[in-house]
Amino acid sequence: MKSTGSGSPRPSTCCTTPRTNRHHRPRLRRPLAAPLRDRTLQAHLDQDYGADLLGGGRPGWKCQAGSRFLYVDEFGNVQFCSAQRGRLNKPIVQYTRRDLRQQSRVYKGCEAGCALLCVYRASALDNRPLHTLAVVTKLAWRRLQL
Ligand code: SF4
Repeated sequence: MKSTGSGSPRPSTCCTTPRTNRHHRPRLRRPLAAPLRDRTLQAHLDQDYGADLLGGGRPGWKCQAGSRFLYVDEFGNVQFCSAQRGRLNKPIVQYTRRDLRQQSRVYKGCEAGCALLCVYRASALDNRPLHTLAVVTKLAWRRLQL
């Protein structure tokens, strides 16, 4: 925090290295570098996808929002997700198995670049079934070891 001279502190917008007092710019292209990488097995479900996104890629996948993933808003309506409110908008009490099946078949049209990893993870079984089963098997095996 720096003082503005009027007595009220203001947040600093950069940091300096202690020896040189020069501006230190943090590297921006290392969010998934080794020290920050999530090493849990669950993270294996979406980590490749997230890394692709951060690298500028647009990996293809089919979103299972409205099927394996349900987002119910404060009015009791099913939505695809928090980013796509208003597109589905069907009361949860009228949502049937038929809706679940239908939404599992269709592309939502906004998959490219979607960063909602919770939905990606919920869709993993449909998009990468063998990889998902391998991760789940490893998870179950690890639990048995504890
Ligand atoms: S692709 Fe992403 S933004 Fe589009 S409906 Fe699915 S989770 Fe929501």
